[in-house]
Amino acid sequence: MKAAVLHTIEDLRIQDIATPHPSEKEILIKVKVCTICGTDIRVYHYGHKHIRFPRITGHEVSGEIVEVGKKVENYKIGQRAAVAPALPCGECYYCRRGMQSMCLNLKDIGYHFDGGFAQFMVVPEVAIENDCVNLIPDNLSFEEAALAEPLACTINGQELSKIGLGDTVVVIGAGPLGCIHMQLARVKGAGKVILVELSSSRIDFARDLAAPDVIINPSKEDAVQKIKEETNGRGADKIIVACSSGKAQEESLRMVGSRGIINFFGGLPKDKPYIQFDSNLAHYGEFYVVGTHGSAPYHNKLALNLLSQGRINVKKIITHRLPLEKLEEGIHLAESGKAMKVAILPNKPNFNF
Ligand SMILES: [Zn+2]
Ligand SMILES: [Zn+2]
Repeated sequence: MKAAVLHTIEDLRIQDIATPHPSEKEILIKVKVCTICGTDIRVYHYGHKHIRFPRITGHEVSGEIVEVGKKVENYKIGQRAAVAPALPCGECYYCRRGMQSMCLNLKDIGYHFDGGFAQFMVVPEVAIENDCVNLIPDNLSFEEAALAEPLACTINGQELSKIGLGDTVVVIGAGPLGCIHMQLARVKGAGKVILVELSSSRIDFARDLAAPDVIINPSKEDAVQKIKEETNGRGADKIIVACSSGKAQEESLRMVGSRGIINFFGGLPKDKPYIQFDSNLAHYGEFYVVGTHGSAPYHNKLALNLLSQGRINVKKIITHRLPLEKLEEGIHLAESGKAMKVAILPNKPNFNF
């Protein structure tokens, strides 16, 4: 099969390698779609402590089941499946308390196991055992199903942020995840959704895809002041910082209302993880700061349900489709901000896009 093998940092090669075969407790998937995530970009440039090279990355995967191990029950050849890539052990302190995304023994597809930037992918036993393999509802495409994973992360984030009825929610950053956050906030009953975004092309995109009530471009107006105006001087109930910017995180501390919740949803670059935090703002405002970085298997199931019910629409989020051979180009496109989501279609060789 063809696979994109990351040999070391920034050394990505498209290679013909032996098609893997599942053991009796594993499944083989023919990969239809694997979308490029911020994590894939980070791993390409910086590696990751859990990755031993060479490795096939890619974790937002959907495909068709083509081989099923003898001892696997409940799955059949020909079924369409999406895989939740963060694989909990099911037995540790956090798993037993229902916090599988915090599993002490978490294994990830694309880190510990080969991922979806290849024509075929083995689904490991631990994934099947822990309910990470979800059948795709008939009314969803493979592309939509691949985006269940980023949606699952936003569901986890909004659970931690306790977004609910009537909340004024500020989303900073209108990338793919920011746009999904705005839609999800509505599903959860937000009263007013405010977007803060610098790029005018992303604003246009978000207007179409997520229809925020208020759009603030901080290069043109004072975002903190405008949010105060929109909330009768209080500040927002909930803030999601859906970009990788320390400055945006610092600003969010001045945008939040008393007892509000800020979510640092986007991670900061490894070499610049510090921000200035006026702790008196928290002392007097009694607000909360939380972070989010992944999802649990049940968030992935919920995500597929929400997509299937048409309550979240991700169809337009994929702006570029590329064959496997152009993965590197896709990574550069995604990091340049020119693309929203880039989908790699490993079994559609050499098509023109
Ligand atoms: Zn992802
Ligand atoms: Zn665990």
